[in-house]
Amino acid sequence: MKELKILYLYPDLLELYGDYGNIQVLRYRLEQRGMKAIIEPYSIGDSAPYFKDYDLVFAGGGADQEQSILAQDLVQYKTEIQEAITNGVFFLLICGAYQLFGKYYKGVEGNIIPGLEIFDYYTEAIADRKKRCIGNIIIETELNGKKTKVIGFENHGGQTFGITNPFGTVLLGNGNQFCDTQEGFFKDNVIATYLHGPLLSKNPELADYILQTCLHRKYQEEIILSPLNDNFENKCREQFI
Ligand code: GLN
Repeated sequence: MKELKILYLYPDLLELYGDYGNIQVLRYRLEQRGMKAIIEPYSIGDSAPYFKDYDLVFAGGGADQEQSILAQDLVQYKTEIQEAITNGVFFLLICGAYQLFGKYYKGVEGNIIPGLEIFDYYTEAIADRKKRCIGNIIIETELNGKKTKVIGFENHGGQTFGITNPFGTVLLGNGNQFCDTQEGFFKDNVIATYLHGPLLSKNPELADYILQTCLHRKYQEEIILSPLNDNFENKCREQFI
């Protein structure tokens, strides 16, 4: 039986607006195809994960406080995470986790939360605490050369600068900064985005893109995922749009 090994980082700290749903969707869509998801959580105090051993690493969003609690722990794995990315392990990072893979996150009080510095972007919170990018968001991205709309929900004070490879173009909502035209970061096997939702339940095509990419890398063969009945998901998408 084909299987994917998924590392779920800091599930106790990074879980906002249904982020855990992404894990459930990945599992569901694998099982519907007769495949298996092995999901292993990691958080502070657990033994060090062997990042290269996984097919997919997922981390959700978290408020500034949670980010500052775990940043030190995360940063110790910089070399291992960098190696895993270079090896092609897929990383799906939502909001707070997205920010922590950049250079740093600067909070409202000017406090610096160190990032992994794996990517060159950096995030600074808007000075006015009451001003946040909040609401539904639609972006357009390209998956395997095909344009597709990705729907989600954003809620962040952080404004991300220095993005060279955005995940998508904003059709509705804010994106990396207030009223931005660009959202997220997408480079090879890394998708980092502000979209909660949960992201994958609202975007089955994206979920399958990630699964297919991971399966292809692992089994070194063309794996056609049998179509699932996404009528309900697609009706919801039509309504959202
Ligand atoms: N603390 C970050 C911000 O407000 C991330 C929030 C989140 O993950 N939704 O920008």
